[in-house]
Amino acid sequence: QHEQLSPEKLVQALCQADDVDAQMLQLVQLFEFSERERRLRHLLVTLFQEVFSEFFPGCAILPFGSSVNGFDIHGCDLDLFLDLEKTKTFQASAKGPQGSQVNEGAGPDSDSEDSILSDIDLATATVPEVLELVAAVLRKCVPGVHSVQAVPSARRPVVKFCHKDSGLLGDISINNRLALCNTRFLQLCTEADERVRPLVYALRNPFGGGPLLNNYALTLLVLFFLQTRSPPVLPTVAQLWELKGEGDPTIVDGWDCSFPQDASRLEPSTNTESLCSLLAEFFHVFGDHDFAGCVISLREGRALPLPSFLLSEAGAKLKLGHFNVQDPFELSHNVAANVNEKTAVRFQHCCRHGAKHCRSLQYQRKSSKGKAWGLVRLFQPGVPEQLCQARDFRRCWFGKVCAAITFLLKDVLKCSCTERAGEPLGQRPTEQGEEEQPITESKHPRSEEGGSFAVSPPRKRLRTEGQAPEEEGSMSWACAVWHHVWMGRRRVRRQLRHLGSPQPDEAQEVEEKVTEAIIQQEGDSRGAEPLLSFTACARVGGGQEDTRTLLYFTPDPQQGPLFQDFYHFLQGFLPRMVERYVGRAMSLSE
Ligand code: ATP
Ligand code: MG
Repeated sequence: QHEQLSPEKLVQALCQADDVDAQMLQLVQLFEFSERERRLRHLLVTLFQEVFSEFFPGCAILPFGSSVNGFDIHGCDLDLFLDLEKTKTFQASAKGPQGSQVNEGAGPDSDSEDSILSDIDLATATVPEVLELVAAVLRKCVPGVHSVQAVPSARRPVVKFCHKDSGLLGDISINNRLALCNTRFLQLCTEADERVRPLVYALRNPFGGGPLLNNYALTLLVLFFLQTRSPPVLPTVAQLWELKGEGDPTIVDGWDCSFPQDASRLEPSTNTESLCSLLAEFFHVFGDHDFAGCVISLREGRALPLPSFLLSEAGAKLKLGHFNVQDPFELSHNVAANVNEKTAVRFQHCCRHGAKHCRSLQYQRKSSKGKAWGLVRLFQPGVPEQLCQARDFRRCWFGKVCAAITFLLKDVLKCSCTERAGEPLGQRPTEQGEEEQPITESKHPRSEEGGSFAVSPPRKRLRTEGQAPEEEGSMSWACAVWHHVWMGRRRVRRQLRHLGSPQPDEAQEVEEKVTEAIIQQEGDSRGAEPLLSFTACARVGGGQEDTRTLLYFTPDPQQGPLFQDFYHFLQGFLPRMVERYVGRAMSLSE
């Protein structure tokens, strides 16, 4: 399970930093993988490699994307590429007339009786067929993996999975070699200048908002921005190509992806701009950029005007849209082709808002009165709305809501309570025929609602057909209640007030005292058995922009009417308290 960073700690840590540069460096430290997380991913890759080698002799499992590109964030997905090239060659030669000779040679071991290769000819098999096979191996042979689903229709077809113990979500793709190159390119950029990472982390906006660009597109935009500073912070892809050195060019799917293997060949940048001013400049530059009227080219390090670009070979094929960012290697691919007009406008609006904030003193100067300043102010709801992808935000928001629920059950209501992360999809209570009661949905405050936190009435089940497992997030708690903590709370609250006991500002502290008083009145001691026990389960909402958290409560068998009472109490209590708890975390030090 990945480490959760509470929003309170985040705000606190950032507000204590000395200046915006320090805040941005801090942000990287707070979000990057711990050594433990890095090791865990490495172990998983080794495990996958071992299992897949059994079935696909000579194959390689290669991680790409944010696990290895230098922009890792706690709990980000694990992107894997299953390279079957060698397996294909091996199968082809094994099938040929000299097949037996290959087996005796240095080639991979295919003696395995149950070699899956006997069922399929990799040279002629379709992508969906290979994916199904990969999915079957994952389902049956990789321990601790669940929710396996082949998605053959995606632009880059993948098999999705979830690793139970770690809660990690992952993808295995079989024809995405270009992603290995662009992963390496992003890595190289992070090695080339140490300002790259803090700037990207800051723009991914850990405090959330609504979805605008996917992480890859946003990262490319930041790299492009750094290429276009004067003097440049990063070289263009064409300049990198010049420095590629001797040896064969790296051609992938017909695109030349040659560039130096490490940053030692690159001249250090002479640009001395601070992180604080680069961030402000990013907003300034893109607040006024004509995204629809040109194509952002990292290869050339400039925005190409449409008329001339359209005459080029790549230009004729690239899908133009409201936001045009050319992939650095696959030149006919617009990585932001799916951005619609509304999102493009919002992006620009966010940048202008960001630029405005960056001109204010609250951005540049640390508050001496403990108020939010710098990045914290920038990221508070609606200022600007997030530039990052929905998924990060949803994950972050869901984490906050779950932390609040744990705190409320354990510390405020004094239940005994064991957390369990990411239960398997197939083991939902309803699917086992048990009763399941969604009690409420809590919604993130959106700026258009004036920052208020809406609690809407339950909607129907959240899981819709075709919903990708990557959108899944779930957490459950096995709970036991030992005292009648739900009964007579109002009376106790009144008594406390009457007795003149100090009134803490925070609602949850009052509620904690109320629970303690009820427990005292019942004589403190616990019975041998709890009054009631149940499982609570929280899941994220269904749609891309859906930030609702749905809570389900399942009583353990034979709980009787007490459970109903407790459930009705929770129905009013939890949403209100989650709202206060998370709302407070969001606006701490306002
Ligand atoms: P995160 O998973 O944290 O959101 P990521 O960079 O891993 O960040 P994914 O969406 O998982 O993003 O994509 C994995 C990798 O696939 C990217 O790093 C990039 O190499 C490649 N990729 C993703 N989207 C695109 C795209 N639109 N065009 C080309 N390559 C892409
Ligand atoms: Mg990823």
